[in-house]
Amino acid sequence: MSAQRKAEKRAGSELVKIPRAKYIFITGGVVSSLGKGITSASLALLLKSRGYKVATLKADPYLNVDPGTMNPFQHGEVYVTDDGAETDLDLGHYERFTDISMSKLNNVTSGQIYEQVIENEREGRYLGGTVQVIPHVTDEIIRNICNLAKHPPRPDIVITEVGGTVGDIESLPFFEAFRQFSLRAGRRNVLFIHVTLLPYISAADEVKTKPTQHSVNKLREIGLQPDIIVCRTEVPVDEDVRNKIALFCNVGPKDVIEARTVKTIYQIPLTLEKDGLANSVLKKLRLKDKPVDLSDWGDRVDAIHRPEQEVRLAVCGKYVGLKDAYKSISEAFIHAGAAHRTRVNVDWVEAEDVQKLGPDKIFEGVHGILVPGGFGNRGIEGKIAAVRYAREQGIPYFGICLGLQIAVIEFARNAAGMRTANSTEFRTTKTPVIDLMPGQRNIHRKGGTMRLGSWACHLQRGTKAFEAYGTELIHERHRHRYEFNNRYKERLEEKGMVFAGMNPDTELVEMIELKNHPWFVGCQFHPELKSRLTNPHPLFYRFVEAAVRHAAENGGLGDMVNDGDVSDASSSDGRDKTKKTAEA
Ligand code: GLN
Repeated sequence: MSAQRKAEKRAGSELVKIPRAKYIFITGGVVSSLGKGITSASLALLLKSRGYKVATLKADPYLNVDPGTMNPFQHGEVYVTDDGAETDLDLGHYERFTDISMSKLNNVTSGQIYEQVIENEREGRYLGGTVQVIPHVTDEIIRNICNLAKHPPRPDIVITEVGGTVGDIESLPFFEAFRQFSLRAGRRNVLFIHVTLLPYISAADEVKTKPTQHSVNKLREIGLQPDIIVCRTEVPVDEDVRNKIALFCNVGPKDVIEARTVKTIYQIPLTLEKDGLANSVLKKLRLKDKPVDLSDWGDRVDAIHRPEQEVRLAVCGKYVGLKDAYKSISEAFIHAGAAHRTRVNVDWVEAEDVQKLGPDKIFEGVHGILVPGGFGNRGIEGKIAAVRYAREQGIPYFGICLGLQIAVIEFARNAAGMRTANSTEFRTTKTPVIDLMPGQRNIHRKGGTMRLGSWACHLQRGTKAFEAYGTELIHERHRHRYEFNNRYKERLEEKGMVFAGMNPDTELVEMIELKNHPWFVGCQFHPELKSRLTNPHPLFYRFVEAAVRHAAENGGLGDMVNDGDVSDASSSDGRDKTKKTAEA
């Protein structure tokens, strides 16, 4: 036993064996929202494209057990995995970039770590010791990294990204755990990448390196020396700046990587590849570099940059004031748009504004309306008015989760004469067309208790759903409590609603559509979670297609002059109508 391990054992550390793999830790400095998630996802893609098995872990320092109980205004979207974990939205980037399905092993929070440590203590597993951040909390963090590294197919490379910024009190145990980890795994098997910001001062026409220097100093204080520094910048980084960062931060000039702001996040892997990030990582980890083919990816990025036409879609929800709340939906539009070489402009419409101003005014000139997932009463009647408008005007409609439930309520009320139709989530009613299933009635705890994760769905032939997927059996991810109430199925069917998708085991309704409408589709699951740049989700693909058709028929299809002026989640003036409120 080495002196190091003896010392750790004396300190009460229960050592976990570090699996053989290479480990990359990605930290952030200077400010938050630097795009660490995109950097991690891009690096994972570059390594995977070279044939390496890669796993990605997001470590979140907050004390919530998972983001499932957080207000979307606080945290943005909750990304749900196949195995039903409610996770950080960075896992969405990991999946979209690498096309590897994530699971609960890919996200850990301080809440989970402390929950486990306290449970161990209550079980008496610490044998009378004093339970401390070092070594007990840090051990638990290390164990989580190892669990992912051991999981089949055993990865060659594990990338761990820690949320927040160096210097945050709550992320300290993670940094300390990474330091210990690098000692145990052997320094040659571990690599640290630090993502920072180079602010541009226009008066001096200079980018400033001082915040990066301070940030690296902060890392050194806790015993971490970055091997590579990724610099977010608005302007090109010249040789002098690189050399300066290299000198003060103790890295090679080639290890200062420029990550200049680009028009679409999907360009970032290409930019990082050009600047030699993957090559440098592999060299430092003593792994072989291999040829890489990113041509499919590049073609899609080109389609984003140079669309041939444009359409306008409206997303009508209640969290529209925060772009991140509907992250996967915006991305799914970009994927579908690229596949159709169409720029999808999105009006983000606050549902309450539809109530106040009326649908004619709000949706004038839009070629498709989407009502996304959501919880609680606020804005519901506005969403119902939006669905009615889409149904009556023959505008393509796509309802996701709550958007399906709203479509059912609207149809029951206005097409099937059930005036009191409602969901019991919003009020008690004589006509609960959307209701809790018996299994949900006695649940009082909020965390992790919804219908979550991947469920099977059987599609009826001859429906738009079947046409989109081209297969009868699909699996999609869920996150909701309420369901369609099968008592009303026949009455709605008589009026022209089609129950296009059913869960084969429980007879729960998963998809609805309308006859006599160009494209009106609702799904109880969240298809946006499974859309990829190189493999857009079939429902988004068809929705955009229907919107293009609608625009062409109504003389509203815009031709593009290709000046390359495109940005992610393009948003037209509808966003300005939105306002941010604290209420969820
Ligand atoms: N609030 C609805 C439910 O719980 C819908 C949830 C959602 O849209 N994700 O069933």
